[in-house]
Amino acid sequence: MRRIEHRIAGGAGGGFGAPRTAPVYDPNRGVVQAEVVLGEDAVLDRAVAAAKEAQPAWAALNPQKRARVLFAFKQLIEANMQELAELLSSEHGKVVEDAKGDIQRGLEVVEFCCGIPQALKGDYSLGAGPGIDVYSMRQPLGVGAGITPFNFPAMIPMWMFAPAVACGNTFILKPSERDPSVPNRLCELFREAGAPEGVLQVVHGDKVMVDAILDHPDIAAVSFVGSSDIAHYVYSRGSAAGKRVQAMGGAKNHAIVMPDADLDRTVEDLVGAAFGSAGERCMALPVVVPVGEDTAEALRARLVRAIEGLKVGISTDPEAQYGPVVTAQHKARIEDWIATGVKEGAELVTDGRGFTLQGFEAGYFLGPTLFDRVTPEMSAYKEEIFGPVLQIVRAESFEEALALPSRHQYGNGVAIFTRNGHAAREFAARVEVGMVGINVPIPVPVSYHSFGGWKRSAFGDHNQYGMEGLRFWTKTKLVTQRWPDGGGAGDSAFIIPTMA
Ligand code: NAD
Repeated sequence: MRRIEHRIAGGAGGGFGAPRTAPVYDPNRGVVQAEVVLGEDAVLDRAVAAAKEAQPAWAALNPQKRARVLFAFKQLIEANMQELAELLSSEHGKVVEDAKGDIQRGLEVVEFCCGIPQALKGDYSLGAGPGIDVYSMRQPLGVGAGITPFNFPAMIPMWMFAPAVACGNTFILKPSERDPSVPNRLCELFREAGAPEGVLQVVHGDKVMVDAILDHPDIAAVSFVGSSDIAHYVYSRGSAAGKRVQAMGGAKNHAIVMPDADLDRTVEDLVGAAFGSAGERCMALPVVVPVGEDTAEALRARLVRAIEGLKVGISTDPEAQYGPVVTAQHKARIEDWIATGVKEGAELVTDGRGFTLQGFEAGYFLGPTLFDRVTPEMSAYKEEIFGPVLQIVRAESFEEALALPSRHQYGNGVAIFTRNGHAAREFAARVEVGMVGINVPIPVPVSYHSFGGWKRSAFGDHNQYGMEGLRFWTKTKLVTQRWPDGGGAGDSAFIIPTMA
């Protein structure tokens, strides 16, 4: 059985006796394809020691030299795109083209970080007082760690480690144990790009490793992305230990469809955003809110037709629009949510349960599911399902539609489809959600802006990537300087200095 090891300084990371392991599945075939080692304190201690040792010299490199490593890394990812995408798809189950998108969106953060010499420049005020100048500098925190979810095994690690290392930190990644191979490859490519040993390392594990990270006295900051309960736990435990923590959680994103929307176009967008990657995206659109009965009827009819035409297939099938979900356990959980929706009184329009693919009967496939007449009281509406399930929640007015995502426990993304600029503007200004799309179904901001939700979708301060990411991975130092002109000594001051 193939064994997936840590990537820590001094070798791949074997030599820790007989560690616990977890199975890594092939979701297309429903079989175990590898096992990943699950590390504990001793593994982390070794990685942290190497990260600590490497950090001062890495931080002392001028930022241009750190950027050169990122430039070389970018080229290596591009050169290895096909191999990385196939590896990603084989453990996650998303189709290969979508896996390339996963890598590409992370790569764009690497590209942003290639501009680190410019982005890290501080502020300077000449003559803030008589003979006094004030300037700021951004300095790295030390050793940082990232804990990532299964659904974007390339993009989310790169969201974290590219800004962290660009700023002069060293970084330890603890990826999801469900698809750990791509993070290992990224680490190898980063070394190949010229990064000194210890700058980027990967440790594998589950809760035991996460707790070790949260409690480790030499880790200064933790970035987490995953489900909300765990995000909250990570945020609480990590900050109680004195660390800087940002912890992104789950989502239940709504698409509001106004009566004047271009329905054909909207349905194309909705189907892609609801079912792409089998709905396993934190920016998926699992809830659609048509405004008015006529909109609801017209939208439903079009959705049913579009869903009938969807092609579910193995992740290497170039014709497939989406592949299997990640594990049998996750598939069973989604099926349970569908059953709950039915029990709670929602109308099951299209049932994706019981879908099988000839030749791949053991694969973790689910057909697309559509519910209508879902209401805000239902638990199947309140909770994240994270599968190929789309729920229609009918609203009578713009105000009622606006209130739905605003009152929902999650506030990651939202979209409005309309031709009315005023309605769109009002919506964007008033909705209680962190990322808004206007006729854009998955509004994941580009790498030079930043990513982050509101409410239970994110705990802590600072978004991922962009200038926000650089702020998270640095601390600000302010210097107030006065160079005496050699004249007489001033009097002692016993009141707080002012520039008055
Ligand atoms: P998850 O919460 O199960 O796992 C995330 C990480 O936490 C993994 O590395 C895992 O090993 C670790 N972990 C799991 N159980 C733990 C425990 N009890 N204690 C400590 N650590 C634990 O999430 P997942 O299933 O891998 O990913 C899907 C979730 O991530 C969804 O909720 C999705 O919405 C969310 N997500 C959010 C964003 C965002 O930016 N807001 C992006 C992608 C995914």
